[in-house]
Amino acid sequence: MKDEEKKNRSRTSFILHPSSFVLPKKRFGQNFLADERVVERIVQEVSPRACETIVEIGPGRGALTSRLIETTGRLVAIEFDRDLIPLLQEKFGERANFTLVEADALVTDLCALIKPATNARVVANLPYYISTAILQRLIEQRACLTEMVLMLQREVVERICAPPGSTERGFLSVSVEAYCLTETLFDVAPTAFRPVPKVWSSVVRLSVRPRIAVKVEDESLLWRIVSAGFAQRRKTIFNNLRNAPADMLSRIEDAGGATTVLENAGIESKRRAETLTLEEWARLTEAIAD
Ligand code: SAM
Repeated sequence: MKDEEKKNRSRTSFILHPSSFVLPKKRFGQNFLADERVVERIVQEVSPRACETIVEIGPGRGALTSRLIETTGRLVAIEFDRDLIPLLQEKFGERANFTLVEADALVTDLCALIKPATNARVVANLPYYISTAILQRLIEQRACLTEMVLMLQREVVERICAPPGSTERGFLSVSVEAYCLTETLFDVAPTAFRPVPKVWSSVVRLSVRPRIAVKVEDESLLWRIVSAGFAQRRKTIFNNLRNAPADMLSRIEDAGGATTVLENAGIESKRRAETLTLEEWARLTEAIAD
């Protein structure tokens, strides 16, 4: 094909399909869902209702949006890539149940966004590069969220669901366990996306618990001690407590020192953070509480 002909062809297809010219951007983690069967399975798992609000994070080119919007009472879509906004407006802007927000989901106040609704479910094929940060942010905003159906890197889902004793277990596993019930739904092969990523994905359902799964007086203290406990994964819980940040260390010392605190919580000092159950973290918190 001659150069001039090529140019004309691309011009013609631009006029007919402007959306196809928004090329995927790596920096926004854009691996668009291209397999209709996967879209269908996710939508079936969500089963959107006419009486509810759903927040979709990163609608992209609208693969999930176009199916979700059919039966959802109100769909609020948050997209960070401004180049995708005109395309999404063109596709769904006329739908009365569609609200498009150009924003960074990491700093968006979802509870304010869904008003006048007081709760919502979240559906997302999350960009890999910030998936755990967005998940943490969703957990922080759990007061107005009832459920999240998320596509994540399979390895992240394994970390989220890692039980005590698993090397995968970390801060994220403990915090998700505290606030959500988890159900891994299915795995998705890289070939379901364009561009094709290097890794497999998994879809997980996180149902937000009405309240935290353990009894602790001070939840922020719980998360500070979990964070200190996992600071150096190769070290024992005893060593991590002894090297905790200053404010935590002074609490530990006020409570009699790391050995006493661990004894009072019934935790053997040679154990590593990944072996502790949520209940044990709660006991440890109570052992250093005022
Ligand atoms: N939902 C679409 C799909 O399944 O084909 C797109 C999924 S793609 C993996 C991730 C989407 O999240 C992209 O549209 C990307 O632009 C968007 N995104 C990336 N960072 C974001 C952020 N901080 N806030 C909101 N959206 C973001």
